Amino acid sequence: MNKQVYDESKIKNNLEKIKHKILILSGKGGVGKSTVSSNLAVSLSEKNYNVGVLDIDIHGPSIPKLLGLEDMKPETTESGICPVMYSPNLKIMSMGFLISDRDSPVIWRGPLKMTAIKQLVGDVEWGNLDYLLVDLPPGTGDEPLSIAQIIPNCDGAIIVTTPQDVALNSVRKSITFVKQMNIPIIGIIENMSGFECPHCRKSIDIFKTGGGFEASKDFQINFLGKIPLDPSIVKLGDSGKPFVGNNNGSKSSKSFDDIVKNVEKIVNKVLVEK
Ligand code: ADP
Repeated sequence: MNKQVYDESKIKNNLEKIKHKILILSGKGGVGKSTVSSNLAVSLSEKNYNVGVLDIDIHGPSIPKLLGLEDMKPETTESGICPVMYSPNLKIMSMGFLISDRDSPVIWRGPLKMTAIKQLVGDVEWGNLDYLLVDLPPGTGDEPLSIAQIIPNCDGAIIVTTPQDVALNSVRKSITFVKQMNIPIIGIIENMSGFECPHCRKSIDIFKTGGGFEASKDFQINFLGKIPLDPSIVKLGDSGKPFVGNNNGSKSSKSFDDIVKNVEKIVNKVLVEK
C-alpha cells in the first residue's frame, strides 16, 4: 500500500451502488461484534439479498477466521480489488486478507493506516449490493472515529454489547460516539445474555441480563434483541462456520432470527423516511 494522498471521490463513486451501508461497532473488544457481523451477513444473504462485509477491525480482523476463509486472497485487477466470495451473494473483504503474517500484530503509523483503509474502501469492487456491513475496530477513540468517517452516507449503526456494567459503560460511550457522527442508531444487540444449562435447562445469568435493554430505554433507541451465551457459537466460530444455519432450533439461533428481522424492518423504514 502506498503513502500517497488517496482520491476521496473514488470512495463515494465506489460505494454508490450499495443500497444500505451499516456500521457494526462495540465499546470494547470481545463482546461478539464480529460474530454478529458475520452471522448477520450470512443470514441476510440466505434471504437472497446481495451482501458484502467490510472488516476493518485492523487490530483483530476475525471475519476470515469466523467464515472459514483464512487462506483466501482477494484478486487484484486493473480496475480494483475483487472481494472473496463466501457464497454467490455474499462478498467478503477484510484487512485480514492483506496481512501476510497473521500471527504478528499490525503496526502501521497513522497516515499510512488511513491511506490503506481508504484504499480498501475505495478500491474493492462490490458491484450492486443490498447491504454492506462494516465491522469497525472496537472502542470509541480516534481510530474507529476516523475509520467510520471514511464511509460516506451510512444508513445507521448497530451497537453490540454484553450485559455487564463494564461493557454497558462502553455502550453508553458508543451511543454518544455514533450520535456525534450524525449517524442514526439502528439499535443495540445484547450478546452473551444469560446461559441455559444444557442439563437442567435452567437459565443462569453469567454476565447478568437486560442491561442492553435498559440502556436502549435510557437513550430511547431500538433494542434489536439478545443472544444467549452458547458454547456451540464458540465451537462453530473456531471451525470457521456461522452459527446461523448450523445450530438450528437452538435458543441462540431463534433469537438471532428475530434480530435479523428487526434489522431488516428498521433499515427499510429508515430508507423510506430519508
Ligand atoms: P469481537 O468482534 O467483539 O472482538 P468476536 O465476535 O470475535 O468478538 O467474539 C469473541 C469470542 O466470543 C469468539 O470466540 C466468539 O465465538 C465468542 N462468542 C461470541 N458470541 C458468543 C455467544 N453468544 N456465546 C458464546 N460465545 C460467543
